[in-house]
Amino acid sequence: MRGLYIHIPFCISKCRYCDFYSLAGKTDLIEGYVSAVVREAEKYGGTSFKTMYVGGGTPSLLGPRRLADLVDGLRSHLQIDCLLEATIEANPESTDEDFLRMVRDIGFNRISIGVQSLDDDELKKAGRVHSSTQALKAIELAFNCGIDNVSADIIIGLPGQTVESLDNTLRKLVGIGLTHASVYCLSIEEGTAFAACPPADLPDDEFQASVYERVAGILKEYGFIHYEISNFALQGKECLHNLNYWRGGEYIGLGSSAASHVGGRRWKNEANLHAYMDDPLAAGIEEDIVDAETKMAEEAMLRLRLLEEGLDTGQLTMRYGLNEFKDLEKRLNILAGQKKLVKNGKRYKLAPGSILTSNHVFVDVIK
Ligand code: SF4
Repeated sequence: MRGLYIHIPFCISKCRYCDFYSLAGKTDLIEGYVSAVVREAEKYGGTSFKTMYVGGGTPSLLGPRRLADLVDGLRSHLQIDCLLEATIEANPESTDEDFLRMVRDIGFNRISIGVQSLDDDELKKAGRVHSSTQALKAIELAFNCGIDNVSADIIIGLPGQTVESLDNTLRKLVGIGLTHASVYCLSIEEGTAFAACPPADLPDDEFQASVYERVAGILKEYGFIHYEISNFALQGKECLHNLNYWRGGEYIGLGSSAASHVGGRRWKNEANLHAYMDDPLAAGIEEDIVDAETKMAEEAMLRLRLLEEGLDTGQLTMRYGLNEFKDLEKRLNILAGQKKLVKNGKRYKLAPGSILTSNHVFVDVIK
């Protein structure tokens, strides 16, 4: 399966925890950026895709007209008429009925809304520019417009967050029919406002760990399947586009900083908006050259993120060969012996007790 990703690197302002490639206060460049993305798409003329994901940044800043221009332009070069899933990310403050109708009319069947919290105080401290009321309204409007797979991003560990406020956020979201939730633990990344000036009321790691299990419990109570470390979905509402990443599938990324993986080759467009817009075909490409063993270990690590499905090493050896697998197999078996992975025949899964410390496990899978 091949997925198409389009990166929209514009935001109204920079959230205090954010280290994604997105730029605040440059919305006047959106029009030119859309044209540049369409020009880049020409390079892959005729390629067909099964999923499409417009992410960012804040794709809802495109508004209805520029979103239609983008998708029409992509359609003129790429085969995107038989998509199994088309997702767009949106933020509550820039999501209105006109935009959502356009989203639906041009073929998106999934929307992922940056809610993060339904506590106004937490939102403000995190530098979000929307309120909890706007977030709930955006979700309800999406359902009313006929988009029946609606996901919300939620952050655990925001300054001032309590067990009660998080419970309230979750129960309100599932109460209005949310079908998918991506739940991330806040980490303070270099270069962010939080790193420069750490908030005094930041919950500690212990809070994050205990609350993470509570969140998983509440979502399971409402019928959600914990299918990936940070992702929960009602049956059949899993994100197909991201499943393809975690299964080591192929994808093409368009836009500044977007990554691609095709035919065993991986590359990334330079994160430089102006260079990209000047010439999207000539903008710097950073090629990621790794040997087969490293690639196989990285795919194993991605597949282990899938908690239900796990890693089928039979599939892995078919793709990369038995010889390349020997060292990795030793490492997987050591981790299984340490009860960090559960082994069943040729399949390995992350042990439930290792989900929260999965990064440490993955370091041992890769080395
Ligand atoms: S809206 Fe998203 S991408 Fe933009 S600054 Fe906030 S967290 Fe980052």
